[in-house]
Amino acid sequence: MTFHIRRPVVVLGLTILALASLPVTATADQWESYHWGRQVNPFTLRLGDNVSGAWDAHLRGASSDWSASVALDTKIVTGGTLRRSCDPTNGRVEVCSARYGDTGWLGLATLWTNGDYITQATVKVNDTYFDTPKYDKPAWRNFVMCHEVGHTLGLAHQDEDFENPSLGTCLEYTDRPKSNQHPNRRDYKDLRAIYAEVDSITTVSSAPPERSADQATATQDWGAAVPGTVDGRTQTYVADLGQGRLVITMVIRSDPPPGRPGRPGPPATEWPAPPSPVSAAVWAV
Ligand SMILES: [Zn+2]
Repeated sequence: MTFHIRRPVVVLGLTILALASLPVTATADQWESYHWGRQVNPFTLRLGDNVSGAWDAHLRGASSDWSASVALDTKIVTGGTLRRSCDPTNGRVEVCSARYGDTGWLGLATLWTNGDYITQATVKVNDTYFDTPKYDKPAWRNFVMCHEVGHTLGLAHQDEDFENPSLGTCLEYTDRPKSNQHPNRRDYKDLRAIYAEVDSITTVSSAPPERSADQATATQDWGAAVPGTVDGRTQTYVADLGQGRLVITMVIRSDPPPGRPGRPGPPATEWPAPPSPVSAAVWAV
């Protein structure tokens, strides 16, 4: 399927829409043309383990699933951050679990990009929800972990309809994740396409963790929200750091914990604009 780019949706009152600087080509279910820079194929992407024991098997499963790609391997390494802050590490993915609170999101993936290249990424899974009976199930944990790690490889959703028959991939939206715990063949095909050509620069790293210059940005301010997302439960945010650098945050919305009202978050049109001089572009996936 062709990846349909629909943008801009709303500009949220911003005077600058940084579309001109954004890459627009995509051939697969790929987030724009974002990918890890590397000069050899296949390459190895490190996943920092900052998850609790309840998540270890699911992180191992996601790592194993995505490593079945001919394009890349993932390798679980000692985490480089604290679970709660989940700060990024240059050149790899930090995967974190914690009780992040009644935030309205089940899991999220954050990608830092520079031009077409992913430079670092984080995955957070929210135990505030996974510790409840509804979500404390292997299928839900596998689905969300596979989904968010998949985003950090540069993959977008194959499908965003909650109600249609399952495509059998973790990279679609679902309320019944039994058949969505792993990638499907199309995910692997997409990865082959995304990583068919090597790059002139390398953004994946095997170096020890080092503090990232951009690390504070995404957790404090996700940037501009995408309005009109599916069922109001899934949203994407983009913050423009300038000089071709973006922070992209992709969210799986949760149902509220039992006995508590939902906290869906502010409507997109009321989301505060990023502080000047940061500009933001908005689009839907
Ligand atoms: Zn997603």
